[in-house]
This record gives sequence, C-alpha cells and structure tokens, in this order.
Amino acid sequence: MRLMECDGDVTAERLQGLVDGWACAHGRPVLPVIMLDGVSPTVRDAVDRLTAHRSGGARPATLCHDDMMPAARPGVRETRLGARLERLRDRLAARNDAWWAEHRDEAPDGLVPCPGCGSRVAAARCGAAHGWRNHCPVCGADMRPRPVRERFDAWKREYVQVREERDTLRRLRRRPVFTLVLLDPDDTDIRIGWES
Ligand SMILES: [Zn+2]
Repeated sequence: MRLMECDGDVTAERLQGLVDGWACAHGRPVLPVIMLDGVSPTVRDAVDRLTAHRSGGARPATLCHDDMMPAARPGVRETRLGARLERLRDRLAARNDAWWAEHRDEAPDGLVPCPGCGSRVAAARCGAAHGWRNHCPVCGADMRPRPVRERFDAWKREYVQVREERDTLRRLRRRPVFTLVLLDPDDTDIRIGWES
C-alpha cells in the first residue's frame, strides 16, 4: 500500500497535481482524487477508510488527525495571543467595579444622569451599601458613560475573537490535521511519504 501525506489545507487542485506528478513519475495511471467526507480521528482509521474506498478508477483521500505525533510546543503566535488574552482579562476584571464610585469628581453636582429614564442619582451612593452600582435603580439602564461602556464591549469582543484564534491554534498543535491519499493499494510496501 502506498500513501501520500499533504498539508491539511492543501487545495483540491494542488493535491491532484501532486498525485498526478507521482503517478507520471512511477508509470501509473493518472486518476482523479476523491476526497472522502469528514476528518478521520486517527491515522489508523484513515488508512482503514481509504482501503474501504479503494477503486481502480480513482484515488481516495481523507483529512486525518495526526494522533501519532506528540503535541508540539505552542508557537510564537499562540504564545502572543495567550499574553494578549491575559492583558484583556486584567482589563475586563474591572468591568463590574462600581464606576461612579471611583469617578465621583466627574459627576456634575455629585449627580449622575441616567441615559435611560433621565433620573439623577447621587454618585455618593454608587457602590455604597444599599446604594446602586452601575445600573439605574429606577429603570436598570447602565449608568456608566457611553465611551466607558463601549470600551468594555470592545475589549470583550476582542477577547472572544482572540480566544477563538488561540483555541484553534492549540487544537491544531495538539492534533494537527493532514491529508492522506491512497496512491496505490497494491504496492507491496507500506509507505507514507512525500516522494514524487
Ligand atoms: Zn434610569
């Protein structure tokens, strides 16, 4: 059995080109590559699926999690994203602090106008026992200045986005995905390689 491995994000066109190159170099027929659905969880499973789909008229291929490779160390990008998440977490930790309690001086006449219902609430009661925190005691609107709310919202959005990218890199590092093609089911050797 003869197999070829390729990057997990190889395009169908490039894959076909690589396989055709191998076929020509080895005097084998040029056949279309058929990509099977889904991602095989292990290399063993991938080989079994490819064998089950062996055919004289096509070369089956599948995406496959590389369960044989030990997890690589985090790359530069993942490490940077991790540090960025840490910083964002520190910033977001202040999100539920009573904002006006720390910015009382900025409230005109010591009163904070509610952007929702127009009530004017004493800044001195912000964060105090039995007082109010960031929300209007009358209508429940967030009473922090708009730029402050928007800044926290932007950090939150950035956090979710960065975490998603970091998690993807981590997943790929732990179980990278590659493409496996069955070149020749009848080859007596069992070989997986790049040779063309
Ligand atoms: Zn209100």
